[in-house]
Amino acid sequence: MESWQARLRRQSIASLEALVARFGAEHFPDLARLRQAAENFEFRISPAMVDLIKSPGDPIWRQYVPDLQELEVHDGLVDSLAEDANSPVPNVTHRYPDRALFLVSPVCASYCRFCTRRRKVGDPEKIPLAELESAFRYFEQHTEIRDIIMSGGDPLLLSDRRVDEICKRLRAIRHIEIIRIGSRVPCHLPERITPELCGILGRYHPLYINTHFNHPDELTPPAVRALGMLADAGIPLGCQTVLLRGVNDDPEVMKRLMQRLLTARVRPYYIYMCDQVAGAEHFRTTVEKGLEIIKALRGWTSGLAVPHFVIDAPGGGGKIPLLPEYVESISDDEVVLRNYAGGRYVYKQPQPDTAPHPPIEFEPVLVG
Ligand SMILES: *Cc1c(COP(=O)(O)O)cnc(C)c1O
Repeated sequence: MESWQARLRRQSIASLEALVARFGAEHFPDLARLRQAAENFEFRISPAMVDLIKSPGDPIWRQYVPDLQELEVHDGLVDSLAEDANSPVPNVTHRYPDRALFLVSPVCASYCRFCTRRRKVGDPEKIPLAELESAFRYFEQHTEIRDIIMSGGDPLLLSDRRVDEICKRLRAIRHIEIIRIGSRVPCHLPERITPELCGILGRYHPLYINTHFNHPDELTPPAVRALGMLADAGIPLGCQTVLLRGVNDDPEVMKRLMQRLLTARVRPYYIYMCDQVAGAEHFRTTVEKGLEIIKALRGWTSGLAVPHFVIDAPGGGGKIPLLPEYVESISDDEVVLRNYAGGRYVYKQPQPDTAPHPPIEFEPVLVG
C-alpha cells in the first residue's frame, strides 16, 4: 500500500493548474489574480479533502480553494493574536501562567485559507525546526509550565521518529504534567493515523489531542476510523471548530457536526470566532451568530455536544468565553433565570446567617 507521505505528495491538489484540470476553467475566471492569492499563502488540498468537494463553492471548497477575496484589503492583522510578541524563544508562545504553545511543524496536509498563522505556516524558515533545542531549554527552566500544546503547522505531519523524539524530550521534563497535540490530520489525512503512530503516542500519557473539524461531512468513514484508533490508544480527543461564513454558520449544521463528533468519540472543546486575520475577512461572521448557535445547542442536545464559544482576543488577550444570556437578574434574595426553552425560573439565594448556629449536642454513644 502507498505510504501516507507518497499519497499526500502524489494525490493532493497543490497548483492552480491541477485545480482547473479537476474542476473546470469556468470556475476560475481570473486566474492571474487568483495566482496572487495562491502565492500569498501556501496552497494544498489533501486527497481526502479533494474527494470531499462536491461542487465549487461548497463548505469544503471554501476552506481550501484560494479566493480572490483574500486579496481585498481590510483592517485584518498579520499576527492577530500577538503570538510573536509573546514569544520568549523561537517556536514558543508563553501567554498563560501554566501552559505554553509549542510550534513543532511548519507544514499541514491541507492549508485552511482562514489560517490564523498564515504569516508563517507553510514556511520552514518561520517555524525553524533546527531551533527546537532553545524551546526545550525554556521549558526546562520554567517550572511553572505544566502543559505543553504542540501545534504548527500540523505536528502529526512529522515522521514517527520526530514525534517520538519530541514527546520523549518533553516527558523527560519533570514539571510537564500533560502533553497536548493540536492536529487536523484525522480530518485531512486520516491514513496518517497508523497503528505505529498510535503505539508511539500511547507511550506518553497523559496525552491529549485536539483535532479540528468544521463541517459534519468531514466525518467520513476513514476519519471516524482514525479517531477511533486514537481513542483506543487511550487518547482523550477534543475538537476546536472555527465559526466560518458559508461553511458552518448555521445552527443545524453545527448541531450535526457536534453530534457526529460525539459518535466519533470526540468531545467538542471550543468553537472559535474567526480571527481578524488579513486575507480571511470573507470567512468572518457576527458574534451574534455564534451566540445563536450556542443557544441552539444548549438544552436542545446532549450537554457533551456543547463546546465553549470563545473569541481569541486580538492583541494577545487569550481566549475569552461568550455565553448567551441565561441570567435575567441577580439579587441578594434570588436569581431569575431563563432556561433553554425560554421558561422563567427562580433560584433562592441562601439567607445570610443572622445568629450563630446553636452548638450541636451529641448523645454519648455507649460501646460494648
Ligand atoms: C489556546 C492557547 C493555549 C491553550 O489554551 P486552553 O484554553 O488551555 O486550551 C495556550 N497558549 C496559547 C498561546 C494559546 O493560544
